[in-house]
Amino acid sequence: MKAAKPSRLQRALGAAACVAAACALALGGAAPAQAAATIVIVNQNDAGVGFNDPTPVAPVGGNPGTTLGQQRLNAFQRAAEIWGATLTSSVPIRIGASFVPLACTATSAVLGSAGAYEIWSDFPSAPRASTWYPSALASKLAGQDISTPGSPHIVARFNSRLGLFPDCLPGSGFYLGLDDNFGDQIDLVTVLLHEFAHGLGFQTFTDDETGAEIQSIPSIWDYYLLNNRTGKLWVEMTDAERAASAVTWRGLSWNGPIVTAAVPQVLAPSSNLGVGGSAAGQAAGNYPVGDASFGPPLSNPPVAGQLMPVVDQADGTGLACDPLGALNALAVRGNVALVDRGSCDFVTKARNVQAAGALAMIVADNQPGDVAGMSGSDPAITIPSVRITQADGVTLKAVLQRRSRTQSGVVASLGLDTTRLAGTDNAGRILLYTPTTYSPGSTVSHYTTEAKPNQLMEPAINDDLTHAVAPPRDLTFPLLRDIGW
Ligand SMILES: [Zn+2]
Repeated sequence: MKAAKPSRLQRALGAAACVAAACALALGGAAPAQAAATIVIVNQNDAGVGFNDPTPVAPVGGNPGTTLGQQRLNAFQRAAEIWGATLTSSVPIRIGASFVPLACTATSAVLGSAGAYEIWSDFPSAPRASTWYPSALASKLAGQDISTPGSPHIVARFNSRLGLFPDCLPGSGFYLGLDDNFGDQIDLVTVLLHEFAHGLGFQTFTDDETGAEIQSIPSIWDYYLLNNRTGKLWVEMTDAERAASAVTWRGLSWNGPIVTAAVPQVLAPSSNLGVGGSAAGQAAGNYPVGDASFGPPLSNPPVAGQLMPVVDQADGTGLACDPLGALNALAVRGNVALVDRGSCDFVTKARNVQAAGALAMIVADNQPGDVAGMSGSDPAITIPSVRITQADGVTLKAVLQRRSRTQSGVVASLGLDTTRLAGTDNAGRILLYTPTTYSPGSTVSHYTTEAKPNQLMEPAINDDLTHAVAPPRDLTFPLLRDIGW
């Protein structure tokens, strides 16, 4: 065991920020049973602001506070209790917390950010030499508090202006209740669970844009980050290889045994578009799809029908933003409608093709990019919808050129691929978030957006999240266990 002098590095605030306009949250599961770690919230706000804001408020959703500041603190305490009941450590974990003005516009906002305040290597009982650990985990593993006296283990800052001012997501403030009944607001407890996880170690300290390690020392995270095409771990790569892998969609997997063992318990089969039929030609095969938050989820047996494009624009595309004309209605009736993204929201398109009698809707992206989902809601939508990439849309349209008014000879089947769980690689490992376009604060230190059900540690907060951090609903705690918790 190595007992070298510990090295320490102060961290600026949070590598991991949650930026989201779509951060509408949700609700919940019961907290795990027995408390095994103590988490202390250290109020870093000045008098009169943040946690000390004296503005009177009515109690809400199980939060008995009667001032804005007290309600904020109560929500922090709830998140601390949930993590405290899940983790094990003999060293109390201190979270330095504050509500401060953060970046905002009328339509998007930084909700908050958090990260380890210090990172340590070669501390007493460190499982791996020359490896960075976040301060709270290093203290747990050392069995003593190794942080700098007076310093928190985790620093967390949250947006004090959210929803309270016209230039900061007006109308979408933090929901301070503790009961998941967040409505159109953003559930603060869920955001806190997410941000605290970053501070506990759900992040790499290696530069995910350049691939450079801090002082040429890898993070504990990097031992589990696997390029699923080359079989190389981040710790085995050059800076350039790390940087390239971070922008390879579906290219990085979490190789930790505890997460991988829990994956089948947590994730559901992935959605799939199968294409066949006499005219499918080179377009035949399976396609990755993004799910819709409206309409029924895909299921088996698949919904199948002739694939027929909507054409309602001079350039040959089909937006379906208005009720379909007679020829388009004839084409999609009893068939699967192919429409293009753009000009109106996804729900409007679904409403229009459904009204024309389509069995299902496929939306082809109108710009290059990775597979992504579709947001929106309308309980009146009863047909399934999926989204495909622009490139796949081009491939499919190419084999639809010789269609008649009512059929194409190309059959689209929307169902589940029972051989593959959503958001996993070919070996059943969960993917990390590695969009082709680098996304500062989100790339690498989050799970893929393709997981189903949505996971707490995806880069944006989804409204089907609960307060669960562990299986059978969530894979956050298994990852923390993999790195040493
Ligand atoms: Zn995050």
